[in-house]
Amino acid sequence: MNYNELAELLFPDIHTTPEDIAAQYPPRQLPEGAKVTRIAPSPTGFMHLGNLFGAIADERLAHQSGGVFYLRIEDTDQKREVPGGVETILKVFADYNLNFDEGATIDGDNGAYGPYRQRQRAKIYQTYAKWLVQQGKAYPCFCTEEELAAIREQQAALKENFGYYGKWAVHRDMPLEQIKEKLAAGEPFVLRFRSEGSLERRVKFTDLVKGAMEFPENDQDVVLLKSDGIPTYHFAHVVDDHLMGTTHVVRGEEWLATLPIHLQLFQAMGWKPPKYVHTAQLMKMDGESKRKLSKRKDPELALDFYKQEGYCVPAVKEYILTLLNSNYEDWRLANPDSPMESFPFNTKKMSVSGSLFDIDKLNDVSKNVISRMSAQQVYTLLTQWAEQFDQPFHALLTRDPAYAQSILAIGRGGKKPRKDLAVWADAKPYMNFFYDELFQPDDCYPENVSLEDRKTILTQYAKLYDPADDNTTWFDKIKGLTDQLGYASNMKEFKKDPSAWPGNVGDVSMVIRVAVTGRQNSPDMYEVMGILGQERVLARLKAALARLS
Ligand code: GLU
Repeated sequence: MNYNELAELLFPDIHTTPEDIAAQYPPRQLPEGAKVTRIAPSPTGFMHLGNLFGAIADERLAHQSGGVFYLRIEDTDQKREVPGGVETILKVFADYNLNFDEGATIDGDNGAYGPYRQRQRAKIYQTYAKWLVQQGKAYPCFCTEEELAAIREQQAALKENFGYYGKWAVHRDMPLEQIKEKLAAGEPFVLRFRSEGSLERRVKFTDLVKGAMEFPENDQDVVLLKSDGIPTYHFAHVVDDHLMGTTHVVRGEEWLATLPIHLQLFQAMGWKPPKYVHTAQLMKMDGESKRKLSKRKDPELALDFYKQEGYCVPAVKEYILTLLNSNYEDWRLANPDSPMESFPFNTKKMSVSGSLFDIDKLNDVSKNVISRMSAQQVYTLLTQWAEQFDQPFHALLTRDPAYAQSILAIGRGGKKPRKDLAVWADAKPYMNFFYDELFQPDDCYPENVSLEDRKTILTQYAKLYDPADDNTTWFDKIKGLTDQLGYASNMKEFKKDPSAWPGNVGDVSMVIRVAVTGRQNSPDMYEVMGILGQERVLARLKAALARLS
């Protein structure tokens, strides 16, 4: 077989050589140990937790080592592409502040190792494909869907492995004359790799998460280029990650099965493969058993979910770090105020068997993250969310930003900050009573306080309330009122014999709380009233009394 002739026949328009291409992709000049990583999503319009999980690992590995983190768009599968898919990818990663050093952007490409959209790289893949044909390492296959289906049927009947290999690779040794005839007749073809692998032999390999592994070699003549000249994932991965200088490929463990193909292709190309970090599946508990997160069953798999529910970006990122590295939580406890970027991310601390996604845990992480923010930060993020998802609330918050911020400042700072908010949607029920428009009193007074006593407490309190009082004076006045009413103001005394009193100072305070905030649960009353202001406090007391009468 004259392979050069075959190569010319198959690729008459390709005049570049591998050397020409290599000259455009010189090795990167980076400090020793710097890692080059990429996230390579397909523009399917669906961005999921796995995309972010991988991207954060990539970003950390690159930036923590002084390396490069880039974005490549894997748009080789046109059937799965949706309009606006690329924009969705860019937008989601921008929302999560993933700082790409290179790659696709909304205004085109940024960086010297592009193009970063695979369909624009067709000629590059074809150049290497032509070169493989010249060496007899790739060949055209004209099999139709029907022929491939027939092969599969026979394999099923004979209980043989499925696929295009060995004797089943029917076009592997087609004579040049026959190929010429088919080409002349305009028959479409795919380009297949001529595998010399055997299932009898093993390939050894070390994954940075899974450790040392061994697989049978690949014996399939996999497709390198589809009939439209666009590569398969396998071929594009090998060519791109080589040319773009990727040192570490972080990707889902579903790619482990085809890793022997990738290693074989790297070898055929004469290139050193990158290091691989195959990340375990994201799992969740379903009753007693664990299962993979599913697009169909679990809305929390979609990244849109977090935005709509009002999770804040730092909380989701922080939670993903707890999933990515088993020692992250301990680090966070020891370093409560450090930025998450100072955590030493390490592939050795990644889960081998599957990270368990737990929304309650995310909520806890989120409460902690938000509790550490300043009132102003919370205000900014909350109003951004509300602008999109709760406009009436947004209008209230922005009507008087200082007022909203003073509410959000309650219990912030100090060793034990309040942890009321997990998602921005929690803010409205938490702070609604500060806004007359949202105030809906439930009048749930403590039952042991009689109607008469409720009225007395509210009437008396309205008289003694003085916004100029400091916290101690204010509380002393409530205690005085408690004594006056014949309730216990000393809790120790009360606990000795609760039946000796109709109630205690806690009940008296609760009556005031219910009247002023409309409910039994609220932040510190003294602070609350300071923010509400005298006028509103008195109005609420009056209105509560009216409802009691
Ligand atoms: N386009 C592939 C995917 O979305 C990328 C896998 C990889 O990172 O190599 O799964």
